[in-house]
Amino acid sequence: LTDKLQNVFRKLRSKGTITEADVKEAMKEVKRALLEADVNFKVVKQFINSVSERAVGEEVLKGLNPGQMVIKIVKEEMDKLMGSETTELKLLPSNEITIVMMCGLQGAGKTTTVAKLAGKFKNKGKKPLLVACDVYRPAAIKQLEINGEKVGVPVFSMGDGHKPVNIAKAAIEHAAKNDINLVFLDTAGRLHVDEDMMNELAEIKENLNVTYTILTVDAMTGQDAVNVATSFNDKIGIDGVILTKLDGDTRGGAALSIKAVTGKPILYAGMGEKLTDLEQFYPDRMASRILGMGDVESLIEKAQSAIDEEKAKEMEEKFKKASFDFNDFLDQMEQMEKMGGMNDILKMLPGFGNKKQLQNLEIDDNAMNMPKAIILSMTKQERSHPEIINPSRKKRIADGAGVPISEVNKLIKQFEQSRKMMKQMSGMMGGKRRGGFKL
Ligand code: GDP
Ligand code: MG
Repeated sequence: LTDKLQNVFRKLRSKGTITEADVKEAMKEVKRALLEADVNFKVVKQFINSVSERAVGEEVLKGLNPGQMVIKIVKEEMDKLMGSETTELKLLPSNEITIVMMCGLQGAGKTTTVAKLAGKFKNKGKKPLLVACDVYRPAAIKQLEINGEKVGVPVFSMGDGHKPVNIAKAAIEHAAKNDINLVFLDTAGRLHVDEDMMNELAEIKENLNVTYTILTVDAMTGQDAVNVATSFNDKIGIDGVILTKLDGDTRGGAALSIKAVTGKPILYAGMGEKLTDLEQFYPDRMASRILGMGDVESLIEKAQSAIDEEKAKEMEEKFKKASFDFNDFLDQMEQMEKMGGMNDILKMLPGFGNKKQLQNLEIDDNAMNMPKAIILSMTKQERSHPEIINPSRKKRIADGAGVPISEVNKLIKQFEQSRKMMKQMSGMMGGKRRGGFKL
């Protein structure tokens, strides 16, 4: 997939303003990316339409090619839709009881998530209580009790012989008497959206002063996330969403679907079964994950600031004539350093951004220093006419750089190979590209 998106950068070559053809081409891949991430198809359609409308005719910023420009617009629109700021659960002042009702389908992660939240706020000095309102599944109360114990938060339960609304009421009375200021109601889910469940939740909401109704959604829900979120929002009204199981390999399209249809913020992300695995939700990072792009936007920004267009053009001419020499090689290395080391650049590239593998694949920026030292030990003439470097010159260069001759040989060989490659590539580039930066 990310290869596909990268292709967009290569394919689009027109200049000046973005044409309809540019947009069409790019949108094909964006659409595919969104659908693969399981964003609801209606949401995808709407998004593609609005981005296309905005993009056609927009001026291509200096230093970018039209493909990059379209992707920049896609990312901006995505950020607009997802929101770019984190949203915290704001509790009432400590002398009042904040009531959080957790709802969602069976297995979404309610019982786990209330315990995670209770633990988190306990650590912040709040006095939470967990309330067992799921009276249908035999093991549900026990599960909440175990979780409560793990995070050191008391659990209020009355067994399974009571209506959830009455349990909730009794729990609030208990809280008021016991100096508790944060109550989490763990409610019962069903396998599918169901009338009984909705009525039960509505009844609790009518009878208690619920501060927040939070919907828990399994990030792997896929296309159905839209129906789930709309049903809960229409029938009982939700204030926010927690997306669980984002530790899986889902790209999390559900986040975009839910935000698009309900407009309600996503507050936290469940990142595992352990009760500490709850993270703040960052909408902009999620947007990148959904697109499978890594942090393309900052890559584009860095490219823009560091690369001088004139110089890039000049370089391109040199590629074509294959007159590229060691001076240019040095220049390129310095450009790269200006952009922040190789590791920074790799992390921002599509396909690398989210990958855990990268941690084991740290590239040693020092590895760049050896070629640099070798080139710096060459005379001016040697740098611009590498073919004159004979064995005795090699020895002198190696000594000057403090490396074995084999390293000098290696570098010269590499250089000749890349020169050959550049000559071939420049034939394909056609010299029409606007910016100098290519992904
Ligand atoms: P409920 O039916 O909505 O109360 O769901 P539970 O809290 O019982 O969770 C259902 C299953 O999902 C359990 O096995 C949890 O351990 C698991 N689970 C919940 N949240 C997460 C999460 O963020 N990541 C992973 N990997 N598993 C989770
Ligand atoms: Mg449960």
